[in-house]
Parts: sequence; structure tokens; C-alpha cells
Amino acid sequence: MFEEVHSMTHKLRSEVSGSYTLATPIPKALGGNIMTASPISDLNPVFMAAGCKLTLMDKDGSRVVQMDDGFFVGYRKTAVRPQEVLLSVNIPYSKRTQFVSAFKQSPRREDDISIVTAAMSATFAPGTDILEDLRLSYGGMAPTTVLAKRTASRLLGRPWGEELLEEACSSLAEEMILDPSVPGGMVTYRQTLTLSLFYKFYLTVLKKLRLQGVSVPEIGPECASATEVYHPQTASSVQIYQAVPEGQSQDDVVGRPMMHLSAMKQATGEAVYCDDVPLYENELHLALITSTKAHARILSVDASVAERMPGVVCCLFADDVPGSNATGVRQDQSVLADGKVTCVGHIIGAVVADTQLQAQRAAKAVKMQYEELPPVVTIQEAIAAQSFYQPIRTIQSGDLEAGFKEADHIIEGEMHIGGQEHFYLETNVTLAVPRGEDGEMELFVSTQATTDTQSQVARALGVPSNRVVVHVKRMGGGFGGKESRSTLLSTVVAVAANKLNRPVRCMLDRDEDMLITGGRHPFYGKYKVGFMNSGKIVALDVSYYGNAGNSMDLSLAILERALFHMENSYSVPNVRGRGFICRTNLPSNTAFRGFGGPQGMMVAESWMTDVAQSLGCSAEEVRRLNLYAEGELTPYNQILHGLTLDRCWDECLSQSGYQQRRAAIDLYNRQNRWTKRGLAMVPTKFGISFTATFLNQAGALAHIYTDGSVLLTHGGTEMGQGLHTKMVQVASRVLGIPCSKIHISETSTNTVPNASPTAASASSDLNGAAVQITCETLLKRLEPYKTKNPKGSWEDWVKAAYFDRVNLSANGFYKTPDLGYSFDTNSGRAFNYYSYGVACSEVEIDCLTGAHKNLSTTIVMDVGHSLNPAIDIGQVEGGFMQGLGLFTLEELHYSPQGVLLTRGPGSYKIPAFGDIPTQLTVSLLRDAPNDKAIFASKAVGEPPLFLAASVFYAIKDAIIAARAESGITGPFRLDSPASAERIRNACSDRFTKLCPPAEPGTFRPWSVQV
Ligand SMILES: Cc1cc2nc3c(=O)[nH]c(=O)nc-3n(C[C@H](O)[C@H](O)[C@H](O)COP(=O)(O)OP(=O)(O)OC[C@H]3O[C@@H](n4cnc5c(N)ncnc54)[C@H](O)[C@@H]3O)c2cc1C
Repeated sequence: MFEEVHSMTHKLRSEVSGSYTLATPIPKALGGNIMTASPISDLNPVFMAAGCKLTLMDKDGSRVVQMDDGFFVGYRKTAVRPQEVLLSVNIPYSKRTQFVSAFKQSPRREDDISIVTAAMSATFAPGTDILEDLRLSYGGMAPTTVLAKRTASRLLGRPWGEELLEEACSSLAEEMILDPSVPGGMVTYRQTLTLSLFYKFYLTVLKKLRLQGVSVPEIGPECASATEVYHPQTASSVQIYQAVPEGQSQDDVVGRPMMHLSAMKQATGEAVYCDDVPLYENELHLALITSTKAHARILSVDASVAERMPGVVCCLFADDVPGSNATGVRQDQSVLADGKVTCVGHIIGAVVADTQLQAQRAAKAVKMQYEELPPVVTIQEAIAAQSFYQPIRTIQSGDLEAGFKEADHIIEGEMHIGGQEHFYLETNVTLAVPRGEDGEMELFVSTQATTDTQSQVARALGVPSNRVVVHVKRMGGGFGGKESRSTLLSTVVAVAANKLNRPVRCMLDRDEDMLITGGRHPFYGKYKVGFMNSGKIVALDVSYYGNAGNSMDLSLAILERALFHMENSYSVPNVRGRGFICRTNLPSNTAFRGFGGPQGMMVAESWMTDVAQSLGCSAEEVRRLNLYAEGELTPYNQILHGLTLDRCWDECLSQSGYQQRRAAIDLYNRQNRWTKRGLAMVPTKFGISFTATFLNQAGALAHIYTDGSVLLTHGGTEMGQGLHTKMVQVASRVLGIPCSKIHISETSTNTVPNASPTAASASSDLNGAAVQITCETLLKRLEPYKTKNPKGSWEDWVKAAYFDRVNLSANGFYKTPDLGYSFDTNSGRAFNYYSYGVACSEVEIDCLTGAHKNLSTTIVMDVGHSLNPAIDIGQVEGGFMQGLGLFTLEELHYSPQGVLLTRGPGSYKIPAFGDIPTQLTVSLLRDAPNDKAIFASKAVGEPPLFLAASVFYAIKDAIIAARAESGITGPFRLDSPASAERIRNACSDRFTKLCPPAEPGTFRPWSVQV
């Protein structure tokens, strides 16, 4: 749409006088855009600023109306009469002395609706800079597109210069005001944008006037970049990995970049997902009835209307749960709400009907009466109310008091890190099929946790686990969102199928999924750090608060992982970390790639940046100085062995050309006032293992059939991450047969029991070892036949063994040795090993709009000896981009009453193609074998996500340069994500000063920071 705006303004700039008429038929999207009258339409401000006329017609004739502030009469309302159609749009050609520009600012650059749009037209007396006509049109500043008429009229007859600019800005600041409670929020930002965009127009016009020979002040070269129109650069990417050792057999695919086994099927749409399972003959559909209140007692539920609606078979409520209604990781949730709701989206009941649409319509017709109770929504509210789940965790080592005493400097700071929606492409889905006898139930589920699904369903149905079979073929993404929260849906669907003795299916719509299932925990971190003049950190006292929502779920383990990562990759001799789990009335937050680690490390990088800033030295020097060394102890007393942080760091430093970039950036920033570049290099050290020791186990099962084909299964689930591909590679190497002979059909509870969820990045390690043991067992059984017939084929040996009555089916089991950390004694190994990585990112920010460009990122990642570099680099790139969404783009907005306002891709922005750094280089660290996991490999699923913090801190680096222009130095708080709004607001300047924020507490904001 931006391009359209741009080309339209080209037309308007034509020097031929007259007009240009778009008519018969009026181009479709254009007519619709005008008629839908969106206040954030891109085109309507352009049409208004250009003084377009519209020809309208009904059966009685036609009329022409001016597209000015009389045209839009209210929110999504125009002066067009009900029977009229828009026949044509008359766009006047611009005059030689008229200049028109259009602007659009949105949360994401590509495919996004705007926050503020603007179009401006200035006409001058020929040969002069005296303003004859000015039209300033804005979208996003009122319920309709508006003209800043007062400002425009004040400026007429004035010369286009600094005085006019001053007057225009103070006038716009008065005229373009928003109520502090306005829908959409971002009040200060939107107001500032009206001024900033005018300033861009001001500079653009100055440039154009000069080109026409009019005597106007020259704009300095340092302002030139403020008038540049954005054009995407051609992207490039480099992937570097080590070749397999010379002499490795061609048949041995371990270490080779083998394509994901389902890649073709997924790309063509042939891959079968849960909802692709064909309909059963007598199948029914289910829709959930959810709470609209964050905290309330349910006074009454009236389903009488719903039950009479077409296609409805029944409604279900808590009384219909035959077994236990208590569910969740800690059994602190209900399958269906019983008397009370504790979040918006709390599942109260369900409607089962012939079709999904009928079920959904009926679910909306169920009437609830509530007695509302005061909700706790934000972390700050939870702190004020001391609303915490127990226990409160502490990790402490060294002597904190002595550390602070020794320090040359002590600073304090804080940071909030927003939550994140999983946004898997496939939403939660379950198909439950009763088997008709003995309470047996078969479920096809999109879940990372087959065993948890089985046990939660069995408990709700009141049957033993051996009656419930859960199948997972593949998921369309999980990211932690289907680790514990997928059971919310599968349990209800199973209860319905059990009650009706018919197959029941439910796949959530995107808005339902976003509303109900929770996401990454928002975190608030508060810190005090002591450091020496050299930059060496000597003491750290940090507290973390995670917004857990209305149940405990996995929040304790997530908080613990945040604490385990509180020092990121830095050696801090005296440290205390405390963690609080906030009980709030939000849908329970849950696992999300990184599992609290990214939040923990993000706060560490905040104090690291503060330390560097307060010492006036480069953040990278301070980071390098404090990096862990081999053999050092973490705050939880784990010795670091096989550390590769320094290698990753030095390699990243040279590969990224850090020094040259830094010099070039310094020069760029000296030469440009309104765009600034920033650079940051950030390390990560990610502990690998489930911190709940018992979960570090896995099983596998393999059958060899008489034709030599192998059916393999293991406890892990495939969610696009390539686990099954890697497991086939492992089996292929151990059995010595090509991958084509091995097949993994699905994961199921009746083949491998008691499987841990596919999580914690450890699935290749755990299941890989189990597959290895399984295959070694089979190989041993085949050994006599190989010895007997060394020239024979695999098929010959298998046949010989079969006829010799050898068991060609085996299972294997693996548990990670030597694990078991205790918070009580601060001892025992928390992690099996660590995955390390370093990233260096360069960005450019537009100080006037807050938009930013990701110019380049270089990542060096230690994944040990990669099992499959293609998949591992895919994980590095994907994890990095998901982190980039977390730290720069994705914002969940909640109302002060705890209602999620962002429930789909229209309002919630995950990264688009254009957000990928223009130059992206990923190298896997060479010669870095890991003796703790399968074939010397390392875990890769979660660790790279945090490396996107390099983009966040590069943005902060650029903001520091912008603030310096206004004479502001020293540490400042920048919360995550570094959205356009936050970047702009942090770049304090003459325009932001004209738009001060409303006093907190004097108004009810549209959304709150949870
Ligand atoms: C995914 C998505 C992204 C979008 N992004 C943007 C964006 O970035 N910027 C932006 O400005 N907009 C955006 N839009 C809105 C989009 O521009 C408008 O929806 C589009 O212009 C509508 O055009 P249409 O022809 O499809 O209208 P329709 O949907 O066909 O019509 C819309 C309404 O206008 C009426 N109408 C259409 N033509 C006439 C006519 N000639 N006379 C009388 N009534 C008429 C129709 O009856 C209907 O009520 C987006 C929409 C979507 C779905």
C-alpha cells in the first residue's frame, strides 16, 4: 500500500495542469478504500490533501462532492447517501509550485495497517517561498481522516522557513490532540508523529523549492536522510558449516545437510496435519464457551437458546466431566469452570453440533451472569497486592555486601519485557474418537506432550491411562505453546466424545487460540549492579517478576530458568537473584522457546549496557571483559567445561567486521541528524536439560520387517524442527543402512510410554540416545548373520535372522546422567552442558518516526558437531527471527480489565520477510565436539532465539546516538519490544517536547503493560 501511495503522489506531482479521473469502473480496491472510510486508510489522506472530487450517482442522477473534512462524517461514515455509488474520483493535477507528499507509519513495514498516515500539499506563489495554499491531512488521529485546518490557515502567506516550522509544530501539537484513553493507545507517539511527519515534509519542500531556484535556507547534509523514501535493499544470506570428515562413508548422512524429510510434502500441502484426518461418518464439532470477565463468580448460565439452535447436539458444563474436573500441570485448573472464572477466555463449557459454524454460533448464544470481582492484571498490580505463587526462588553466591563495598560504582535500573504469542501456523486441534468399549478413547492431537495429554484425558474421563491412546503425526509449529496448554482443548473434546459416544473434533480459530491458550511470560526485572572503573562487574542483585496468569502451569520452571540465566555469559562473583511468580487474572502463560531464559538474559544485557554507558565506554569491551572463562563457576555452582564463548565471540567479531562497522557507524552518525545507526554484539549461554530432573529420559522403539524396512518411533514429536529427520539419520548411521529404509510414521503413547514433552531443546539428545541404544540392540542381534554372510545385504541378514526366530523388534531407554540441582543447597548439576553463540547486529533507526531497518546480522553458533547443518542453521535462523519478533515487534495489548485486544495478524505483528536482516550470515562453530550428547552434537532449538537481543541493543545503541544530539547522556530504560513507538519516544527532541504524556493515574489507558 505504501508503494501505491507513493506512485499516486507521483501523479499528483505532474506539472500539467488539469486533472486525472479514475472512473468506469472505479478501480475496485480504491472505491472500497474510500467507502469503508477507515480512519487509518492510506489513500484517503492523499485524496483529501490533493483536493479530490468524487462523482456520486443514484437512480435520480449524479452529483460531485469535494473530498474534504465534510466528506467523512463519523467513524466509518461518509456523506454518501445509502443509494448512491461512487462513480469516479477526480484527482487534480498538481501545479508547478505545488508539492505533495504522503507518509505512512505502521508497527511493521510490510503488509500492515498504519498507526498514523499523512498527506500534505503546499502551494506557493510562483517564484517565491510564500505559502498560498496548505492542506495537511492525517489518518489515525481521530475517528475519521482529518484536515489540520487551523494550523494550515495560520501558516498561509508566510515564508517557508524556520519560523513557519516552529509555528506549525506548536499549532499541530494543539490541534492534533488525542484523548489519553483513545482506542489504539500510543497517544504521545501518535501526536509526536503528526509533528515529525510535518518536519519531513518541511525539509522535502525546502529541497524542492531550492531545486526550482527559489531562495530558501539550504538544508544541511545532516538532514538529508530524513527525506529519503524507503526502498528495500536486496537481501543476501550466507550459511557456513563444516564438511564431514574426509573418508566418511557416503551412506552415512550424519553431519550432512540433509533436507527435512517432510519438506516437499509441507511445501506442496500434501503433509497430513491433525485437521486433515478425514471426517468420521458420525463426527461432531465442538466450540468452546469462554468467560468475558477476568475475575468473577458465575451467577447463572443459560444455554436454553443455544440448545435449540440448528445442528446443536448438546452443551457441556463442569457437571458433565465424568472423572476429575481438576486439570493442568499442577491440577490447579478446571477442565470446565466451576462457579468462578479467573481470566477472560477461561473455558466454561462447550457446545457440540453438526458443524463447526453451528457450534460456534450456539456458543455465542449461551448467556452468563457474573458477579465481577476486582482483577489483578499487571505485574505491578501483583506486586502491590503481593499476589504471588509460592515458592519465591533465590540463587545466591559470593558475598553480595562485600561485592557492593568493593565496587567503584553502583547503578540501579529496571526493564519490562513483553509477552509473546506462539503464533504457530496450525492452531490447537484435537479429534477424539471413542472406541466403543472398556472406556477406550483414541485422540489425534497437535501436541508436544503425548503423555501429558493421555494422563489429563484419562483423569478427566475417570479411566486408567491404558485406555487412552494419543497420536501425533506432526504439528504445524508448537514453540512451547503445545507443551502443557494443548490439553485444555483435548480434555474438553475427549469429555464430549465420551458423553456422546461419537467422534468429536475441534480446531480453534486464531482469535480463540490467542485468547485462551496464553503465551510467553511478560517479565519485569529490577537490578542493582556494582562494577569497577575497568568495567568488571563485581556484584549483582536482581529480582525477576514473571506474569504467570491464572494458574501455575510451568511458571516455576520458567522462573527458575530465568534465574539460571540471570548472568547470561558473564562471570559475576557476588550475586543474588530472586524470582517471583505473579498470580494474575490473565490466561495462564506457559512455555515458549527459551522458557524464561531469554527474559533472564535480556535483563542482564540491560545492566551491561547501563554499565558501559555510565563508564562512557563501548558495551562490547565491557561484555568481552566479563565473559566467562573455562572452569569458572556459575552462581548455581556449576563448573563450566568445554567453554567456547570466547571462540564464538572472537569469530563473530572478525566475521562481522565489527571494528570497521563501528568506525563507519560513528561517521554516519556524525553526518546524519535524523537517522542513526547502532551496533551491538551479544553472547548467549543456554543451559541444556530439563531443570525438572525426572524429565531427562526418553524411549524409542524400532521394528525391522522381513523386507528389511525399519519402522522407528520415539517419544519426541515433530513440529517442523526436524527431529524425525535427525532421528532417522541416527538410526541410519547405527544400523548402517540408508535413510530410505527407515520410516517414522507418528508419535504415540501405545508405542513409547511415559514420554517427556518435546521441549527444552533436549529432544535430539534424549531421543537420539534412545534411538542409538535401540538400534545397537537390533544390530547386535543381527551380528551373527553378518558374520556368517559378510558379503550379504541388509535384507539377507534380516531374513536370516527372521527364519532363525530372532526378535526384530527392540526398544531402548536413555536417561541423562549426573543431573540434579537443589535450590536448598545451591549445589548439584542443573544442566548437562551449554550451547553458546554470539551475534552482531547493525540497525538504522529513523529518529523521527521510530521505524528501523535491520541492516546486518552475523551469528556464530556452537552446535557441537552438527547432526544436520541444514536443519541446525534453519533452527538458528528461525529462532533468531522469532526472537527478533519478541524484542522488536510483537506486542500483546490487554485492556486494564484483562481483555486481550490483539487477537489476530491484523493487530499482532510477527516478523515479515522485510524484517530479516538485509545481510544475514550464520556460521556453525567448527571443531567443537560435545562429549555430552549424541554423536558430539549440541541442542539448537532454543539457544539462538536470544541472539536477537543484539538487534534490540543495536537499536538502543542508535537511540543513545540520537539522544546525544539533544544533549542527553547516561543510562535510560528501554522496555522490550523496541517498537517504533518506544524508539521514537526515546529519541527525545524538540518535537517530543511539544507532546508531553498525560499524567499517569489521571486517565484510563486503552491498554496496560502486563
Ligand atoms: C489484509 C488487509 C490489509 C489491508 N491493508 C490496508 C492498508 O495497509 N491500508 C489501507 O488503507 N487499507 C488496507 N486494507 C483495507 C483495504 O484497502 C480495503 O479493504 C480495500 O481498499 C477495500 O476495497 P474492495 O474493493 O475490496 O472493497 P469491498 O470490500 O468490495 O468494499 C468495501 C465497501 O465499500 C463499498 N463499495 C465499494 N466500491 C464502492 C463504490 N464504487 N460505490 C459505493 N460503495 C462501494 C462496498 O459495498 C463495501 O461496503 C487492508 C485490507 C485487508 C483485508
